[in-house]
Amino acid sequence: MLFLGDIFFICSLQYVIVSILNVRGVILSNKINFKAVLFDIDDTLFNSSLMSTTARRNAIRAFREAGIEIDEDKGYAILKKIVKKYGSNYGEHFNRFLEELEQKPHPKLIAAAVVAYHSTKLSLLRPFPDVVLTLLLLMKEMKIGIVSDGIQEKQWEKLNYLGLQHFFETVIINENETNQKPGTYGFQKALNELGIENSAEVIYVGNSINRDVVGANRMGLVSVLFDPNNKIDLDKLAGEEKPDYVIKRINEITKIVGIKQNKNPL
Ligand SMILES: [Mg+2]
Repeated sequence: MLFLGDIFFICSLQYVIVSILNVRGVILSNKINFKAVLFDIDDTLFNSSLMSTTARRNAIRAFREAGIEIDEDKGYAILKKIVKKYGSNYGEHFNRFLEELEQKPHPKLIAAAVVAYHSTKLSLLRPFPDVVLTLLLLMKEMKIGIVSDGIQEKQWEKLNYLGLQHFFETVIINENETNQKPGTYGFQKALNELGIENSAEVIYVGNSINRDVVGANRMGLVSVLFDPNNKIDLDKLAGEEKPDYVIKRINEITKIVGIKQNKNPL
């Protein structure tokens, strides 16, 4: 039998849990029957920033080993500028890099940098901890999908390297800039493909305020910011920039949707 004190304690405990999880102050009932969880790819399913930074640094090291005299940090800064100028999907960053150093872009040098870059990239294209288990738990209960921006083949390549290419019921990759996040085009397309009308029954998880959170909020989805290193100052966010939830680990999604995880057998 429950006494008044117990009921009060349980209510206040529930209030604390809701306050911790819910950033926008919108009380999302536990009774929401979420129908789908959609994910961003880069820096949400895997550490894309670490991958590109390390791969570029290793390319500079390969140039140095091949005889190009350049300080590693200086070289990295030059390469970063070139990537910014030509875009990350441009095919001749290393040629432009050598030209910048007034060096002839000999194929032997370019090959050394390309091999260092790609082998690093491939070794770091691994899902964040608990991504695979979380997706497996979610897909038993609801639909899961991807809404991402970029070149379709490149994003599919990433899903293949991550070993996640068969997990999702819908994969929307917006190549055309006018359709990209925070536009709602990709979200709407995903909802259509999943046959879901009520966007409030769908969660979107991403790492970017301007693209992912704003886009999801505009679409009326439940927005979840993935911020593993506590980089985002929530107090500085206003209106549509505010996520409904902030998580540090991907498996926290299971709590939001109300899936109980078994205790770790280890
Ligand atoms: Mg991202």
